[in-house]
Amino acid sequence: MIEENLKNILSELPSGVKLVAVSKFHPFEAILMAYQAGQKVFGENRPQEFYRKVLQLPQDIEWHFIGHLQTNKLKLVLPYASLVESIDSFELLDAVQRWGVAHDKVIDALLELHLGAEATKGGFTETEIEQVLSNTYSHVRFHGLMGMATNTDDESVIRADFKRIQDFKLHLNAEHPELSDFTELSIGMSHDWKIALEYGATIVRIGTAIFGPRQY
Ligand SMILES: *Cc1c(COP(=O)(O)O)cnc(C)c1O
Repeated sequence: MIEENLKNILSELPSGVKLVAVSKFHPFEAILMAYQAGQKVFGENRPQEFYRKVLQLPQDIEWHFIGHLQTNKLKLVLPYASLVESIDSFELLDAVQRWGVAHDKVIDALLELHLGAEATKGGFTETEIEQVLSNTYSHVRFHGLMGMATNTDDESVIRADFKRIQDFKLHLNAEHPELSDFTELSIGMSHDWKIALEYGATIVRIGTAIFGPRQY
Protein backbone atom coordinates (compact mmCIF):
# COMPACT_ATOMS: atom_id res chain seq x y z
CA MET A 1 0.00 0.00 0.00
CA ILE A 2 2.63 2.56 1.10
CA GLU A 3 4.99 1.33 -1.58
CA GLU A 4 2.31 1.60 -4.24
CA ASN A 5 1.25 5.09 -3.12
CA LEU A 6 4.86 6.23 -3.30
CA LYS A 7 5.37 4.72 -6.71
CA ASN A 8 2.25 6.41 -8.07
CA ILE A 9 3.25 9.82 -6.73
CA LEU A 10 6.86 9.54 -7.93
CA SER A 11 5.68 8.56 -11.40
CA GLU A 12 3.88 11.90 -11.70
CA LEU A 13 6.55 14.03 -10.03
CA PRO A 14 8.98 15.82 -12.37
CA SER A 15 12.56 14.73 -11.66
CA GLY A 16 13.64 18.11 -10.25
CA VAL A 17 10.96 18.13 -7.56
CA LYS A 18 11.80 16.69 -4.15
CA LEU A 19 9.24 14.56 -2.32
CA VAL A 20 9.16 14.94 1.45
CA ALA A 21 7.20 12.02 2.91
CA VAL A 22 5.39 13.54 5.89
CA SER A 23 5.47 10.80 8.51
CA LYS A 24 4.07 12.68 11.52
CA PHE A 25 1.70 10.58 13.63
CA HIS A 26 2.81 7.42 11.81
CA PRO A 27 4.75 4.63 13.50
CA PHE A 28 8.33 3.58 12.77
CA GLU A 29 7.13 0.55 10.77
CA ALA A 30 5.31 2.75 8.26
CA ILE A 31 8.41 4.90 7.79
CA LEU A 32 10.57 1.81 7.34
CA MET A 33 8.21 0.53 4.68
CA ALA A 34 8.60 3.74 2.72
CA TYR A 35 12.36 3.72 3.36
CA GLN A 36 12.67 0.19 2.02
CA ALA A 37 10.73 1.28 -1.04
CA GLY A 38 13.48 3.83 -1.66
CA GLN A 39 12.15 7.00 -0.01
CA LYS A 40 14.94 8.78 1.88
CA VAL A 41 13.44 12.19 2.73
CA PHE A 42 10.93 12.48 5.56
CA GLY A 43 9.21 15.37 7.32
CA GLU A 44 8.01 15.73 10.90
CA ASN A 45 6.28 18.63 12.64
CA ARG A 46 6.68 18.02 16.38
CA PRO A 47 10.13 18.34 18.00
CA GLN A 48 9.86 15.38 20.41
CA GLU A 49 8.53 13.02 17.77
CA PHE A 50 11.11 14.26 15.26
CA TYR A 51 13.92 13.60 17.75
CA ARG A 52 12.67 10.12 18.68
CA LYS A 53 12.42 9.08 15.05
CA VAL A 54 15.78 10.57 14.06
CA LEU A 55 17.56 8.60 16.76
CA GLN A 56 15.86 5.28 16.05
CA LEU A 57 15.57 5.18 12.29
CA PRO A 58 18.28 4.69 9.62
CA GLN A 59 21.11 7.23 9.64
CA ASP A 60 20.93 8.06 5.95
CA ILE A 61 17.42 9.51 6.16
CA GLU A 62 17.25 13.20 5.27
CA TRP A 63 14.93 14.77 7.84
CA HIS A 64 13.02 17.99 7.25
CA PHE A 65 11.37 19.83 10.11
CA ILE A 66 8.07 21.29 8.90
CA GLY A 67 6.18 22.40 12.03
CA HIS A 68 6.10 25.19 14.53
CA LEU A 69 9.38 25.17 16.45
CA GLN A 70 9.40 26.62 19.95
CA THR A 71 12.66 28.29 20.87
CA ASN A 72 13.14 25.98 23.87
CA LYS A 73 13.11 22.90 21.59
CA LEU A 74 15.94 23.84 19.25
CA LYS A 75 18.32 21.19 20.54
CA LEU A 76 15.90 18.43 19.54
CA VAL A 77 15.78 19.60 15.96
CA LEU A 78 18.71 21.74 14.80
CA PRO A 79 21.49 19.13 15.14
CA TYR A 80 19.58 16.71 12.92
CA ALA A 81 17.41 18.57 10.41
CA SER A 82 18.75 18.80 6.87
CA LEU A 83 16.26 21.58 6.27
CA VAL A 84 14.10 23.54 8.70
CA GLU A 85 11.22 24.45 6.41
CA SER A 86 9.21 26.44 8.89
CA ILE A 87 11.04 29.51 10.16
CA ASP A 88 7.93 31.51 10.97
CA SER A 89 8.87 34.39 13.29
CA PHE A 90 11.68 36.81 14.10
CA GLU A 91 11.86 35.35 17.59
CA LEU A 92 12.54 31.88 16.19
CA LEU A 93 14.94 33.17 13.56
CA ASP A 94 16.98 35.08 16.13
CA ALA A 95 17.09 32.03 18.40
CA VAL A 96 18.21 29.77 15.52
CA GLN A 97 20.92 32.26 14.60
CA ARG A 98 22.17 32.34 18.22
CA TRP A 99 22.10 28.53 18.40
CA GLY A 100 24.08 28.35 15.17
CA VAL A 101 26.72 30.72 16.50
CA ALA A 102 26.97 28.82 19.79
CA HIS A 103 27.30 25.45 18.04
CA ASP A 104 29.34 26.61 15.06
CA LYS A 105 26.74 25.28 12.63
CA VAL A 106 25.00 26.96 9.72
CA ILE A 107 21.30 26.04 9.67
CA ASP A 108 19.66 25.43 6.31
CA ALA A 109 16.17 26.89 6.33
CA LEU A 110 13.11 28.05 4.45
CA LEU A 111 11.06 31.07 5.41
CA GLU A 112 7.38 30.30 5.89
CA LEU A 113 5.04 32.76 4.22
CA HIS A 114 1.63 33.00 5.84
CA LEU A 115 -0.89 32.13 3.14
CA GLY A 116 -4.64 31.85 3.21
CA ALA A 117 -7.28 32.91 5.63
CA GLU A 118 -6.60 30.78 8.69
CA ALA A 119 -5.31 32.93 11.53
CA THR A 120 -4.20 29.76 13.31
CA LYS A 121 -1.52 29.16 10.70
CA GLY A 122 1.93 30.56 11.26
CA GLY A 123 4.29 32.38 9.02
CA PHE A 124 5.71 35.75 8.10
CA THR A 125 4.03 38.41 5.98
CA GLU A 126 5.71 39.47 2.74
CA THR A 127 6.92 42.68 4.40
CA GLU A 128 8.51 40.74 7.24
CA ILE A 129 10.30 38.41 4.84
CA GLU A 130 11.69 41.43 2.96
CA GLN A 131 12.93 42.66 6.32
CA VAL A 132 14.56 39.29 7.12
CA LEU A 133 16.40 39.27 3.82
CA SER A 134 17.68 42.80 4.28
CA ASN A 135 19.47 41.66 7.45
CA THR A 136 22.41 39.30 7.61
CA TYR A 137 22.31 36.05 9.52
CA SER A 138 25.75 34.47 9.59
CA HIS A 139 24.47 31.07 10.76
CA VAL A 140 21.19 30.67 8.87
CA ARG A 141 21.22 29.94 5.14
CA PHE A 142 17.94 30.74 3.42
CA HIS A 143 17.03 28.33 0.64
CA GLY A 144 13.63 29.71 -0.29
CA LEU A 145 10.01 29.83 0.81
CA MET A 146 7.49 27.40 2.30
CA GLY A 147 3.74 27.87 2.38
CA MET A 148 0.48 26.05 3.02
CA ALA A 149 -2.46 27.01 0.85
CA THR A 150 -5.87 27.66 2.38
CA ASN A 151 -7.52 24.41 3.44
CA THR A 152 -10.45 24.41 1.01
CA ASP A 153 -11.98 22.46 -1.85
CA ASP A 154 -12.19 25.66 -3.89
CA GLU A 155 -9.38 25.21 -6.37
CA SER A 156 -9.40 28.88 -7.39
CA VAL A 157 -8.51 29.86 -3.81
CA ILE A 158 -5.66 27.34 -3.72
CA ARG A 159 -4.38 28.63 -7.07
CA ALA A 160 -4.47 32.22 -5.84
CA ASP A 161 -2.41 31.25 -2.77
CA PHE A 162 0.16 29.38 -4.85
CA LYS A 163 0.39 32.20 -7.38
CA ARG A 164 0.97 34.68 -4.57
CA ILE A 165 3.90 32.73 -3.10
CA GLN A 166 5.37 31.94 -6.53
CA ASP A 167 5.24 35.61 -7.58
CA PHE A 168 6.76 36.68 -4.26
CA LYS A 169 9.61 34.22 -4.64
CA LEU A 170 10.35 35.51 -8.17
CA HIS A 171 10.25 39.06 -6.81
CA LEU A 172 12.74 38.18 -4.07
CA ASN A 173 15.06 36.45 -6.54
CA ALA A 174 15.05 39.59 -8.69
CA GLU A 175 15.65 41.87 -5.69
CA HIS A 176 18.36 39.71 -4.14
CA PRO A 177 20.56 38.25 -6.88
CA GLU A 178 23.22 37.78 -4.17
CA LEU A 179 21.07 35.07 -2.55
CA SER A 180 22.16 32.33 -4.91
CA ASP A 181 20.83 29.58 -2.63
CA PHE A 182 17.29 31.01 -2.59
CA THR A 183 15.90 28.44 -5.03
CA GLU A 184 13.31 26.32 -3.23
CA LEU A 185 9.55 26.69 -3.21
CA SER A 186 7.99 24.17 -0.83
CA ILE A 187 4.27 24.09 -1.62
CA GLY A 188 1.79 21.28 -2.11
CA MET A 189 0.36 18.62 0.20
CA SER A 190 -1.72 15.49 -0.37
CA HIS A 191 -4.75 17.26 -1.80
CA ASP A 192 -3.07 20.04 -3.77
CA TRP A 193 0.43 18.92 -4.81
CA LYS A 194 -0.47 18.47 -8.47
CA ILE A 195 -1.71 22.07 -8.58
CA ALA A 196 1.45 23.21 -6.77
CA LEU A 197 3.58 21.79 -9.59
CA GLU A 198 1.96 24.30 -11.96
CA TYR A 199 3.20 27.11 -9.71
CA GLY A 200 6.82 26.14 -9.55
CA ALA A 201 6.97 23.82 -6.55
CA THR A 202 10.47 22.40 -6.04
CA ILE A 203 9.50 20.52 -2.86
CA VAL A 204 6.16 18.84 -2.12
CA ARG A 205 5.27 17.63 1.40
CA ILE A 206 2.94 14.65 1.24
CA GLY A 207 1.65 12.63 4.18
CA THR A 208 -1.85 11.19 3.91
CA ALA A 209 -1.58 10.25 0.25
CA ILE A 210 1.42 8.04 1.13
CA PHE A 211 0.71 6.73 4.62
CA GLY A 212 -3.09 6.98 4.85
CA PRO A 213 -4.93 8.72 7.71
CA ARG A 214 -2.69 9.74 10.61
CA GLN A 215 -2.48 7.29 13.52
CA TYR A 216 -2.11 7.64 17.28
C1 LIG B 1 0.96 17.52 7.87
C2 LIG B 1 1.65 18.45 6.95
C3 LIG B 1 1.79 18.15 5.59
C4 LIG B 1 1.21 16.92 4.93
O1 LIG B 1 -0.19 16.93 4.95
P1 LIG B 1 -1.02 15.82 4.15
O2 LIG B 1 -2.31 16.51 3.89
O3 LIG B 1 -1.17 14.66 5.06
O4 LIG B 1 -0.28 15.50 2.92
C5 LIG B 1 2.49 19.05 4.80
N1 LIG B 1 3.02 20.18 5.31
C6 LIG B 1 2.92 20.50 6.61
C7 LIG B 1 3.54 21.76 7.10
C8 LIG B 1 2.22 19.65 7.47
O5 LIG B 1 2.10 19.98 8.77
